[in-house]
Amino acid sequence: MTKFEDLVPEFIRKLPGYVPGKPIKQAELESGTRMVKMASNENPFGPSPKALLAMEQAARETNLYPDNEITELRLRLAELVKLDINQVMVSNGSTALINIIARALLRPGLNAITSQKSFIVYPIATGATGAQFITVPMKDYTFDLDGLAARVDANTRVIFIANPNNPTGTMVSAGEVDRFLDRLPDHVVTVLDEAYCDFAEDFARERGAEYSHSLDYVRQGRNVIVLRTFSKAHGLAGARVGYGFASERMIAAFVRLQMAFAVSGLAEAAALAALDDTAHIRRTVENNRTGAKWLIAKFRDLGIKAVPTSANFIYFEVEDAAGVAQRVQASGVIIRPLTGGWACPNGLRVTIGTPEQNERFIKALAKATERAPVAR
Ligand SMILES: *Cc1c(COP(=O)(O)O)cnc(C)c1O
Repeated sequence: MTKFEDLVPEFIRKLPGYVPGKPIKQAELESGTRMVKMASNENPFGPSPKALLAMEQAARETNLYPDNEITELRLRLAELVKLDINQVMVSNGSTALINIIARALLRPGLNAITSQKSFIVYPIATGATGAQFITVPMKDYTFDLDGLAARVDANTRVIFIANPNNPTGTMVSAGEVDRFLDRLPDHVVTVLDEAYCDFAEDFARERGAEYSHSLDYVRQGRNVIVLRTFSKAHGLAGARVGYGFASERMIAAFVRLQMAFAVSGLAEAAALAALDDTAHIRRTVENNRTGAKWLIAKFRDLGIKAVPTSANFIYFEVEDAAGVAQRVQASGVIIRPLTGGWACPNGLRVTIGTPEQNERFIKALAKATERAPVAR
């Protein structure tokens, strides 16, 4: 008799599942204490109050299917960045777009390239198409763009650049990406994943660096797709809205692979309202900047190696990362060990929280990493 598993292609059977940050409720059950979640780079201030109100109103129409074309939100996004509405695609999270891009461009025999220690969704999306997934070592916790360019061959179709990178928090500058794109052959599409752009802009301004020319590339008709999301600075991770900017041709191809009614009316209404709530975003970004400084100083005091961030989280390294994550959780803080699919055996990632959350985390970390007294 045919086993069901034999009906599933090997490249699908081999796929690693996505392991999310631990949900608060599960962690509270495990630890028996009230938890704060600093594991998934969510907004510590919650959704914008304006978005909440907009969702309450939109909820009255949930008997109706939403606008399949997501016209209002696409129009607003197009106006904001001065692109045409047909250069904008909205989806149920930018991770949905990553999957669509992979399905549109990859298949067995082709390949996608990215860095080691980058976003865990790239190998899953690539693997699901049967294409080869190629990773290049990092340089000082940062994407090595020369290394990526050197691996491009006739079968390369996609390059994923997370900028800033998740989980290391490092960014590549606008000038570096300019030079990188100039070297690529035209059968390669570069995905510039800018999920943390609001934080990166802010850090770059402070440090006198230039963050990104991504929208210029789209205006110039280059083989680039820019991904952004409402999940991070805008505080709408649970509503599931992300978007992409690319040439009209590319968007037309990707849209065919989108599920019908992928973005709910609640999500669209929330995103539109969140765009208007500049005060909420400003507060979020300012809190992030001061929180990053405070945390980096505390890591130094504890003698723990932490990588300076351009995003809303900090990557750090300890011995026994899984054990430390567990002990920190026992003190009421969920953080993310980057073992397993993330392939950083000593790596941990903590989301920058409110000042109170950051303090609670540092206390928990100090306790979790202090050495047991030596018995005499
Ligand atoms: C969080 C994140 C996203 C956004 O995912 P959504 O599906 O929009 O919630 C995309 N890329 C990276 C690198 C991320 O860290």
